[in-house]
Amino acid sequence: MAKSVLVDLTRCIGCRGCQVACKAWNERRTRPTTIRGTFTNPERLSSDTYTFIRFVEEEVQGGPVWTFIKDQCLHCKDPACVSVCPVAALVKTPTGPVTYSHDRCIGCRYCMIACPFQIPKYEWESPLPWVQKCDFCAERLAEGMLPACVKTCPTGTMFFGEAEEVAAEAERRLAKGGYVDHIYGKEEAGGTSWIYLASRPFAELGFRTQVSKRPLPPLTWEYITHIPAIFGLVFAVGLGAWVVTRRDEVAEKEGRR
Ligand code: SF4
Ligand code: SF4
Ligand code: SF4
Repeated sequence: MAKSVLVDLTRCIGCRGCQVACKAWNERRTRPTTIRGTFTNPERLSSDTYTFIRFVEEEVQGGPVWTFIKDQCLHCKDPACVSVCPVAALVKTPTGPVTYSHDRCIGCRYCMIACPFQIPKYEWESPLPWVQKCDFCAERLAEGMLPACVKTCPTGTMFFGEAEEVAAEAERRLAKGGYVDHIYGKEEAGGTSWIYLASRPFAELGFRTQVSKRPLPPLTWEYITHIPAIFGLVFAVGLGAWVVTRRDEVAEKEGRR
């Protein structure tokens, strides 16, 4: 039932088809960028960029060797962002995606602090800002379609399937050789729905390798409860916002508006 993706970085050629497909499917804006001495473009994830390819260069025998890394939300199995959201705007769905409901969000940005991979981004430039991140193409999955980035990839870098099948495929490839002995996401943050294989150490590729192997919600919750006054205020505002939204929705459905 729960879907998962194995990103095999040894297969990525850095074409950025996934990056473009994600923008197109999610109707996110593109912005002019500048040359900064790197092929990574844009520079990082943003409220308009749910996924991008990082170009990592190393010199081997006097020549450049590239590794291309696809970054996006890892859809943690027990997500810290979900656990700290006071109004359940973020939800871990049974099919794998961590989804976001902007009509519930009160903009507290706890999710941004809690995420061990710094994934959720805020629309700072917008007068009515929402949190933005990859949602694992939840709507496409619900229709039996592949995520847009997975479907577009010309090299099969992303292996999509049932979580057990994807985990088994990762172990099978690892046993065959040609990779560093680590499946990133198998244990990080208690396990994630997107996992990675690579031929170079993940630390050298800019992955966060100090992330706890325990699920993070108990830790983040402990931290949050150390600021009870702020949390109480945020919770009260969130509850108020939710009540107002629900009232408006019900009124609309009942034809009173
Ligand atoms: S990577 Fe971050 S935003 Fe994505 S599910 Fe995990 S905690 Fe949430
Ligand atoms: S900003 Fe606050 S309310 Fe909105 S999704 Fe993040 S934690 Fe939830
Ligand atoms: S799963 Fe969908 S939203 Fe996430 S990176 Fe791929 S195309 Fe973008």
